[in-house]
Amino acid sequence: MRVLITGGGGFIGSNLVDHLERSDPETDVVVLDDFSTGDRSNLAASRARIVDGSLVDGDAVADAASGADAIVHLGAVPSVPRSIADPRRSHDANITGTLNVLEAARRHGISHVIAASSSSVYGSNPALPKSEDMFTRPMSPYAVTKLATEAYLVAYGHSYGLRTLAFRFFNVYGPRQSAGHDYAAVIPRFIDAALAGVPLQVEGDGLQSRDFTYVDSVCDAIHRALQSRLASPSPVNLAFGTRTTLMQLIAMIEEATGAPVTIEHRAARVGDVRESQADTALLKSLLPDLAPVPLERGVQKTVEWFRAEAARGR
Ligand code: NAD
Repeated sequence: MRVLITGGGGFIGSNLVDHLERSDPETDVVVLDDFSTGDRSNLAASRARIVDGSLVDGDAVADAASGADAIVHLGAVPSVPRSIADPRRSHDANITGTLNVLEAARRHGISHVIAASSSSVYGSNPALPKSEDMFTRPMSPYAVTKLATEAYLVAYGHSYGLRTLAFRFFNVYGPRQSAGHDYAAVIPRFIDAALAGVPLQVEGDGLQSRDFTYVDSVCDAIHRALQSRLASPSPVNLAFGTRTTLMQLIAMIEEATGAPVTIEHRAARVGDVRESQADTALLKSLLPDLAPVPLERGVQKTVEWFRAEAARGR
């Protein structure tokens, strides 16, 4: 099978490239990435064909998709604060980019498309756990772009008979998630600070909760979905229904690093949701054998990766 992975140079994308190449040597991977937030070094051990191009360029997307049997669309400007700083850039990459991916699929007769949406689409809806039939209320331009992404997938399924599947990821973490920029996610930021012995910057009181998902679990789900050509007429939560506060997470990081940390509280972030936890019934019905990596284990493995990177001087 030949699979185009957009955003394959990024955190989740490059882990997926490795996962597919490792578990199925017959899989032929093409990566489309502009390396704006991804990194070529993430693909150093891969045999994937790399196309350096932008999702905004419809011809580049169509060229990269030529000959593929399926597309996994992970490329995006991936953060809430980035979208607040520059909403148009998020719109272009995430919404126009998704349209370009779907049009490339249509043009080349690629009938299976899986894309990354986000739990951020639930936004200010306070209900917990979040189930897919609840109303969405985006609180940031980023969340709007993800709502449009999943809506386009569903609509292309209905309009053109494509087998489409939009997964709503919930706070994915693990090796290769970068810590060293202003928009870094909380787990890499905290682990990086803990290993450097500097205070962890907690936005708000630290009692906000997240359904953290280890990256291998996400790759496993996408791999199974590719194998079974899974499609869904509605978006599907991809998380395991846990609810961990930042303060609980910090205790796990202390345990994994073996050293106490200090904490500094700052103002809460605009556009951030307070609580997040997935209802997992739909995912379980579609992928009943999928099993999560527990948070303690995932944090441990992520700490080990950060330590190894530090030892390599990165
Ligand atoms: P990432 O930044 O590591 O990966 C995104 C990739 O897309 C990068 O390699 C980047 O260079 C590429 N990209 C950005 N704009 C592009 C463009 N215009 N053309 C081509 N490539 C472009 O982030 P990630 O965490 O791996 O996210 C992957 C996907 O998962 C994204 O769609 C993101 O919105 C979604 N997601 C991630 C999380 C999470 O917790 N990490 C949660 C919800 C949804």
